Amino acid sequence: MKKSILLLLSVVYLCSCSNDSKTEDKTAQNTERKDSAFKQFEERFVNEFWKIYPGWATSVGNHTYDTVLIIPNEASRTAELNFCKAYLDSLNQYNEGLLNGNNNIDRALIKNNLESSIWSITKLKAHEWNPSDYNVGGSVSEIMNNKKETLENKIRSVIRKLSKLEQYYTAAKTNIKTPTKEHTELAIQQLNGTIGFFSGTLSDSINKGKFGAHELDKYLADVSIATGHIKGYVSFLDSTLKNTKEFKDFRIGKELYAEKFKYNIQSSFTAEEVYEKALKRKEELLKEMTERSKKLWPKYMKAKSYPADDKIAIKELITEIAKTHVSREKFQSEIERHIPILTKFVKDKNLLYMDPKKPLVVRKEPEWMAGVAGASISAPGPYDKEGDTFYNVGSLAAYTPEGAESFLREYNKYILQILNIHEAIPGHYAQLVYSNQSPSIIKSIFGNGAMVEGWAVYTELMMLEEGWAKNTELNGQVEEDEMWLMYNKWHMRVVCNTILDYSVQNKGMTKEEGLNLLMNEAFQEKSEAEGKWRRATLTQVQLCSYFTGFTEIYEFRNEQKKELGTKFDLKKFHEQFLSFGSAPVGLIKKYFGGDKKC
Ligand code: ZN
Ligand code: ZN
Repeated sequence: MKKSILLLLSVVYLCSCSNDSKTEDKTAQNTERKDSAFKQFEERFVNEFWKIYPGWATSVGNHTYDTVLIIPNEASRTAELNFCKAYLDSLNQYNEGLLNGNNNIDRALIKNNLESSIWSITKLKAHEWNPSDYNVGGSVSEIMNNKKETLENKIRSVIRKLSKLEQYYTAAKTNIKTPTKEHTELAIQQLNGTIGFFSGTLSDSINKGKFGAHELDKYLADVSIATGHIKGYVSFLDSTLKNTKEFKDFRIGKELYAEKFKYNIQSSFTAEEVYEKALKRKEELLKEMTERSKKLWPKYMKAKSYPADDKIAIKELITEIAKTHVSREKFQSEIERHIPILTKFVKDKNLLYMDPKKPLVVRKEPEWMAGVAGASISAPGPYDKEGDTFYNVGSLAAYTPEGAESFLREYNKYILQILNIHEAIPGHYAQLVYSNQSPSIIKSIFGNGAMVEGWAVYTELMMLEEGWAKNTELNGQVEEDEMWLMYNKWHMRVVCNTILDYSVQNKGMTKEEGLNLLMNEAFQEKSEAEGKWRRATLTQVQLCSYFTGFTEIYEFRNEQKKELGTKFDLKKFHEQFLSFGSAPVGLIKKYFGGDKKC
């Protein structure tokens, strides 16, 4: 891998697109000089960056600033703005033409982050309307999860951080001017979680520490004082809920939405273009699902006649096919069984090189993640590259028999395979392995969510196109139409996430219309649709990241295929694509295969 990155760099480097060899030499020397200066600049930047964003540092495994709590007042916002403006200024010294492709991507990521922060403070102003911004629970649990520090020292860090909580919440109350009802309710719910965490798990940990009696009592008292400050903020929010006559609309409006899309998704398409593509994709999927349903109907529904409405037929059939699923006891072992079969398929079909030295560890979801359900990947951060990557599988222990049945139908025999492709191989896990080999810490810190999710969503379709649905190694029989129909349903979710988010924010879509879209057009159950609606009221543009990234990658691959004809090599394409780390797809496209651009 390292080799191919070097190769790629040298190709970009040599490609100065000049006919005059003397100028070329000069440019090359210049490029080299600026590149090493830029690397030093990056290092300075990252060091200063963590001082402004200590909580972010903790979250990526850099524990230098664990004790610091920034008071969210006017002064700290001014300091942040000054930091951003100063570094935007210094960034101007590094002209795009004088850097290699990888550094140019870093440069673009830094620039985007700085501009985005300025925009957040001066235009989005979430600090005035989102009370859930003020919660230190996540940071504290990240400090406590650090495996490289003693329990006693971690507690000392937490105590120092919490000693500023009174000022912290005084500033928060001053900031909250026009809250939304939705974010106020969310804040109360999450802060009650933090209160529970402090008086439970955190206090238990303190009791386990090897402290003198006086020190122990002081720490326990400090935590209960901190909890008191959180409770004070919660009652402030409770009375805000009761006394506010007019809340701010949770919709941020067209202009802010388009800007947030630009900064967060960093796509080469606009939000509106992606929305149009999603509408088109929805129609295609519906057509495919109708054809497959007509084919599969007799097999599952026997003599029952096919309904007049195709959508009703599709829904009935999906419900029937979903009854094929593993038992709750076998949920984890079934996932473990899939992994080597998926790995072998990827190898046999020449889709991607997978480093055998980095095996994926499947484990039961740790307690502190409980409730996330389903499955997720935990990867080591940029400061802990040697750490294991875990595939966390939700425990179904807490479910009632009915709850478990509904969950297992959702992750039925077919969807479970797609889930494993998405989360593990060759989806998130494979992408992370490549991303960790990318030489830049900037790409690890400012990794692009649309690229990461887009890649996982892309691999679902790619695996099916390469014949996964015909593969007999998993189940001994071919059920191609079932697999594709379930894939269509799964993919429809991603497509409708985009349509929902865009329509809610830009077209004033109501809850009733939203639920209708999800339940009747995307075949979702009521509980799933309700959860998605709630998410659409609490976040903006994030729900678009999956489909946007997917579309960009898929269209780019097909363009490359067309351009290269018989010379196109899918494995090479994937490896080169992933070698850029978690960079925005638009930037990868720009610097992809530098030699061809000459
Ligand atoms: Zn069942
Ligand atoms: Zn994902």
